[in-house]
Amino acid sequence: MPPPSICAACGAPIRWTITEGRKRLAVNASPDPAGNAAVSRDGRGTWLSRRPTQDLPLAPYERLHMPHPATCKGREAAEEPLTRCLGVIRLDERRRERGRG
Ligand SMILES: [Zn+2]
Repeated sequence: MPPPSICAACGAPIRWTITEGRKRLAVNASPDPAGNAAVSRDGRGTWLSRRPTQDLPLAPYERLHMPHPATCKGREAAEEPLTRCLGVIRLDERRRERGRG
């Protein structure tokens, strides 16, 4: 099995799948019974995902995964705290400079 990809936004391991609509969907690399994407591999190793339905429920060769966009915390985890942190440092430095002058 190939190693999972890494989400560029939050660094979580993800798996790129192709949906029935031939779109790319990133799912969390680990199966999740709460997910709504039925993930399987075709004969050429391509990861496929689809939504289970009443007519076509989850098959034995499929695993439920959570679509990654539902749980991606890229912005909160990676960008905002860093920005806030830099902002605080800059403000503190300005205050110190004003205090000296
Ligand atoms: Zn992510």
